[in-house]
Amino acid sequence: MPSTRPPVSVLGLGMMGTALAAAFLRAGHPTTVWNRSPAKTGPLVAQGATPAQTGPDAVSASPLVVVCLMTYDNVEEVLHPLAADLAGKTLVNLTNGTPAQARELAAWAERQGAQYLDGGIMAVPQMIAGPQAYVFYSGPQAAFDAHRETLSALGGTKYVGTDPGFAALHDLALLTGMYGMFAGVIQAFALVRTENLSATEFAEPLVAWVSAMLSGTPELAKAIDSGQHLTDVSSLAVNQAAFPNFLATFRDQGLSPELFEPFQAILDRAIKEGYGADGLSRIADLLKVTR
Ligand code: NDP
Repeated sequence: MPSTRPPVSVLGLGMMGTALAAAFLRAGHPTTVWNRSPAKTGPLVAQGATPAQTGPDAVSASPLVVVCLMTYDNVEEVLHPLAADLAGKTLVNLTNGTPAQARELAAWAERQGAQYLDGGIMAVPQMIAGPQAYVFYSGPQAAFDAHRETLSALGGTKYVGTDPGFAALHDLALLTGMYGMFAGVIQAFALVRTENLSATEFAEPLVAWVSAMLSGTPELAKAIDSGQHLTDVSSLAVNQAAFPNFLATFRDQGLSPELFEPFQAILDRAIKEGYGADGLSRIADLLKVTR
């Protein structure tokens, strides 16, 4: 019996695009797939996908066109020759990029008569369609509402506003927190390994400590939102006085301090500018660059 689910086209069948297309197929959507290197369509065709020979064939097959390539440059390279085929389509771009790139591509797509939704995938390919996977979307609310059900085949859908740059902003903000955390965790493992201690054994106290510290995040957020940075917990003066011990220890133990030097620099600036009595939340203000 033919599917009654709306059809979808997926452009880009790398690790992520393949997972997205497979999820649409599993949810019963007739799925047309296209990739620069056609061999990657094979496994999806075996699961029921229709291979498109050309980009225009892929776009014409469905009202909803999902794009997932390596970079926005790749997206432009693929989409610009398809400009004439996009009118009336809803384009969902799940390629990682910046808010500015999303806004620029949204304006271009609109000029071609397409509706543009930008997306930020909060999952690795293996998690797609699983309970923890979700995608941020931003762009016209009506376009999101029209395709929400289809998009829910990929996991949770979090719509974060009409500004097409907002999905990337949310995505990058969460990943910023993640990379900051990993920078510290990796430095900590490297430090214990300088004395041949086991990183595996150190993982347990490290997770417990970082998790305990993370529980203070809502308080930090409140201080940042309110601008009330005075603290009775841990002042910038105390942190700045202790921080050279980290850099010295890294050097003494034969490690590069390059991941942590920028933090020392901003602590030094905070003290120089008279914020020693404030808490770490003050740093969010100091990061602002006046243009
Ligand atoms: P892959 O390297 O597996 O796939 C890259 C895709 O981009 C392939 O389809 C490749 O085509 C295509 N591509 C690259 N350059 C061009 C070009 N010039 N013209 C046409 N197509 C091109 O990457 P992923 O699938 O893992 O990642 C895709 C996007 O998803 C990225 O933006 C990534 O940041 C994002 N993402 C990935 C996650 C992950 O865990 N993998 C998690 C969240 C987001 P070809 O096969 O022909 O080389």
